[in-house]
Amino acid sequence: MAITGDQRLLKRINRMALVRLVRSQPGLSRAELSIETGLTKSTVSLLVQELIDDGWLREDTVLVTGAIGRRPTPLRLDGRRLAMIGAELGVDHLCVTSMSLDGEVLECVRAGFSRQAAPEKVLQQLAELIVTQVANLTSARRELLGVGVGVPGAVLEASGVMAVAPNLGWRNVPVREALGMALEALGAPGIALFVQNDADVAALGEVEFASVPIGDPLLYLSIGVGVGSGVVVGGRLLLGGRGFAGEVGHIQLQANGPRCSCGRSGCAEAFIGLQAMANGLGCSIEELEARTRAGDPATLAGLATAGERLGVLLHNLWATLDPALIVLGGESCRLGSALMGPARQTFAALAQTANLDIPPITESRFGELAIPAGGAALVLHKLLLPI
Ligand SMILES: [Zn+2]
Repeated sequence: MAITGDQRLLKRINRMALVRLVRSQPGLSRAELSIETGLTKSTVSLLVQELIDDGWLREDTVLVTGAIGRRPTPLRLDGRRLAMIGAELGVDHLCVTSMSLDGEVLECVRAGFSRQAAPEKVLQQLAELIVTQVANLTSARRELLGVGVGVPGAVLEASGVMAVAPNLGWRNVPVREALGMALEALGAPGIALFVQNDADVAALGEVEFASVPIGDPLLYLSIGVGVGSGVVVGGRLLLGGRGFAGEVGHIQLQANGPRCSCGRSGCAEAFIGLQAMANGLGCSIEELEARTRAGDPATLAGLATAGERLGVLLHNLWATLDPALIVLGGESCRLGSALMGPARQTFAALAQTANLDIPPITESRFGELAIPAGGAALVLHKLLLPI
């Protein structure tokens, strides 16, 4: 009997359910997977063998004890063969990483571009960086699962079009289509390509490469030149109707406040965005970081005021979403406790007034690579949740 489309989908769903289970509970045996999933032992054995052959899972060393004899074989993710490429399209730079299935960074390159450059030119440059890493993965006998790109704007999931990126000045750019064509022209056709907002992919990076399940809902707040967030609820991204969910940099903190990159006034980004903070202190971003490291009193006072605004933003997001975990990322993390200290204090004080405890707050596990690693996580996310 021919295999129908429905059966193929069912098989994909079952295969990926097994991978997700082994990832969240490393060391599970085939028998335990059968109990956890409700699939028969013979189905689990068949699918596990396929997953081993395809490079997703590996068998770990069996523990042998005298009294009990041979124990069931523990299964783990196999980080040796499959790989994803993740990319960051920043406001003035590109960063491309290759990652293993278990979250190891295999290769990473960074390149700058002029803010005046046309979108097609920047995407061409990105395609060239990707193609080099595709070739390197092939040489290392790794199989590419796909490419995921984090971009500084809202993305329409179905089309891969970036609707608006205020800090780049781009509107309605078909990122996925243009990148796919550039890759094809460079001799790399047919690559599975995914595009999503940078904070969204960074949030997925925390979830998909976690060795144990982490807090859900998860709120990832990215603070750089732009300010945005990614929210993972029930293991899935909260994207909103048009991809605009999580654009928290444009929550108004003050009526008639300073002008924001989006055209509105008094947005959070106009107070706590890296460029906005530097502008407010009359210096460049590089000078802001240098003065912070040197402990310049005026700079520290400015950052403390911005930190209080960040604390209010964190509080408002917490009141809206009740996240189990908050992860902070973005270039502003380099400002350290000068910004984050007052933010945490303000947030905790507001919560304490209502006699409530704040959730754990951590920094991104991938640090400055949060967005490219998140791009790789996006690929994994799309494959592990086939529907
Ligand atoms: Zn704004």
